Amino acid sequence: MPIPAIRLTDANEAPIRGEGEYVLYWMIAHRRLSWNFALDHAIDEAKRLGKPLLIFEPLRVRYEWASDRLHRFIIEGMRDHAAALRDHPVGYYPYVEPHAGAAASSGGLLATLARRACLVISDEYPCFFLPRLIDAVRDRVPVRLRLVDSSTVMPLRLADRTFTVAHSYRRWMQKQILDVLPDFPRPRPLAGGRLPPFPGVEAKILRRWPAADLDRLLSPGGLDSIPIDHAVGPCPETVGGDGEAVRRLRGFLKTGLAAYGDDRNHPDRRATSGLSPYLHFGHLSPHQIVSELLDREGWTPDRAAPANGKNHGFWNTSETAEAFLDQLLTWRELGFNLSHRQPDDYDRYESLPDWALKTLDQHRRDPRPTIYDLDQFERAETHDEIWNAAQRELVSTGAMHNYLRMLWGKLILHWSATPEEALRVMVELNNKYALDGRDPNSYSGIFWTLGRYDRPWGPTRPVFGNVRYMTSDSTRRKLKLKGYLAKFAGPGTPEKSAAERKLFD
Ligand SMILES: Cc1cc2nc3c(=O)[nH]c(=O)nc-3n(C[C@H](O)[C@H](O)[C@H](O)COP(=O)(O)OP(=O)(O)OC[C@H]3O[C@@H](n4cnc5c(N)ncnc54)[C@H](O)[C@@H]3O)c2cc1C
Repeated sequence: MPIPAIRLTDANEAPIRGEGEYVLYWMIAHRRLSWNFALDHAIDEAKRLGKPLLIFEPLRVRYEWASDRLHRFIIEGMRDHAAALRDHPVGYYPYVEPHAGAAASSGGLLATLARRACLVISDEYPCFFLPRLIDAVRDRVPVRLRLVDSSTVMPLRLADRTFTVAHSYRRWMQKQILDVLPDFPRPRPLAGGRLPPFPGVEAKILRRWPAADLDRLLSPGGLDSIPIDHAVGPCPETVGGDGEAVRRLRGFLKTGLAAYGDDRNHPDRRATSGLSPYLHFGHLSPHQIVSELLDREGWTPDRAAPANGKNHGFWNTSETAEAFLDQLLTWRELGFNLSHRQPDDYDRYESLPDWALKTLDQHRRDPRPTIYDLDQFERAETHDEIWNAAQRELVSTGAMHNYLRMLWGKLILHWSATPEEALRVMVELNNKYALDGRDPNSYSGIFWTLGRYDRPWGPTRPVFGNVRYMTSDSTRRKLKLKGYLAKFAGPGTPEKSAAERKLFD
């Protein structure tokens, strides 16, 4: 079955050249070899044209917050792809820029590969620098450049409006999703129907832009010569790649999901899936998660209830599965809806709802209980044990528990000189340290702490006005976090982690 037309967008009007040597899949966001509409479409086009397929997966140097942490995670994914495509008729060309601008030199690696291609297929990702990258290259690619939307279960273009609250998005999604479910990407696209073998990248191109030596890059010190932030080190407990993503998904479905509904808010229980970095880098598809989860639940479409916008009862699965699906299909995709529809301002303070802008403005001169600057926040040097623990978790593990992430953001608002400064601090720390940062959900989560997707709350409070308020005291009362604090802030761990020592000592 061809992939749904609503997921395809031509980024230029250059021709598809039937006399080209191959179809080029320029893999920049959906970095995976299964459950990927872009790969499916590339395979379909290669078959239709009777040409080989080359998958080109580059990693640039010059993007904001580039660090050993992010590079390593992506390169671990490349290692999986290289292993899966060794001795396969589909060609694979991983490229890691050794210095800034290397890929763009000599007319550019992408343009050079594209000159021999029939067409270039790439990933549509509505966030971070990727839309700007597409804008920069669309007229330099001499053949058709086609983008494929594979980030979300609901196609990005299906919604004709920007949703401002989760309830209305959920109701819309529930009305449409049974029509979308049959159109899922292929679980094993590389298994079927043979393509003509790719003969190899031309030696001249490889001399100019050598394929990445992935084992060397992943060996100790392998990233040292690349000009990225080496102080933000890798997270050894969170290995990147499609293989690890699927292992974690299956482990979570088998042993974690049952407790998700009750325990996910308690940091000590570690009940969430930890899948967000894999979703962010495209190592895992939300389609695969939904498909495997619904299979496990023995779900069939006739079990769905009429759409009502509620966060439980629609799927008619176990409560815990419904709770998880709501995070994945409502909260995650709501963020993509906004960044896709408002590319110019989804990350700007002014994009907050009017009521939030107004109330924050009315309280901008309120005295703060204390004011910290970015450095103090970054070093976890606040007076608050829970806040410091959450920040230290982020710096040392690349992740932060979701409930504490909300508190973390609310307290940054409370302790910053202005709400705009609070936004700057949150974006900087989240995107620098979180493996899942630089994502539409980075902005939806951060902006949520300032009022996005929320309503005004009373009573009116200093600094917050009518923006929802959270405190460490109530968090301590509500959550199980003794073990968490012992690990990240408590007397049992007076030592800074290796990651923190590298950064701050
Ligand atoms: C201040 C702040 C910053 C945030 N920054 C990010 C970010 O950079 N990247 C990111 O992916 N999420 C972000 N979130 C949302 C949320 O915290 C994470 O998605 C979640 O903690 C990821 O952990 P998990 O994979 O174990 O989630 P699980 O609870 O296992 O949920 C499964 C999946 O559902 C999605 N999801 C879960 N909770 C949310 C949520 N509240 N909003 C949107 N999607 C959700 C994620 O894709 C997640 O992987 C942020 C939230 C806040 C309050």
